[in-house]
Amino acid sequence: MFQNLNQDEPIFPIRAAAQLLKISVHTLRMYEREGLIIPFKKESSHRLYSQTDLKRIECIRRAINEMKISINGIKTMYSLIPCWEIMGCSEENRKNCKSYNEHSKPCWGYAHEKNVCEEKKCRDCEVYKKHSQCGEIKELIKSISR
Ligand code: SF4
Repeated sequence: MFQNLNQDEPIFPIRAAAQLLKISVHTLRMYEREGLIIPFKKESSHRLYSQTDLKRIECIRRAINEMKISINGIKTMYSLIPCWEIMGCSEENRKNCKSYNEHSKPCWGYAHEKNVCEEKKCRDCEVYKKHSQCGEIKELIKSISR
């Protein structure tokens, strides 16, 4: 898209992001409410989107429009990302972790108390960041099951 810019730099305000994606601001807000995306939040609480965010949203749009996967279906798919492997969670942590034990939403959709994620910012976490592209979840599962 804008090749010379840092792909992870949050630069697009919500209106510009919506225009580039040819969707409404309302849809972008809904994706955030549903926990599919975590835009960068300025102190003013305005949202900014990076090119990586836009690619992630394009992937979500393809899943919805071409593959006919519902928003709940996408959330379930994200919930299968084995964050506990990536974060190296202990057995003890896993026992008390909703994202390990449930499957209705991605790990970043839960409030994490008293575990390894408590202090982390999900937007900057490799679990969230690494799965912005279609196909990456499958590649991860392949690499873990080798
Ligand atoms: S920090 Fe957030 S995105 Fe990373 S594993 Fe924990 S809950 Fe998931």
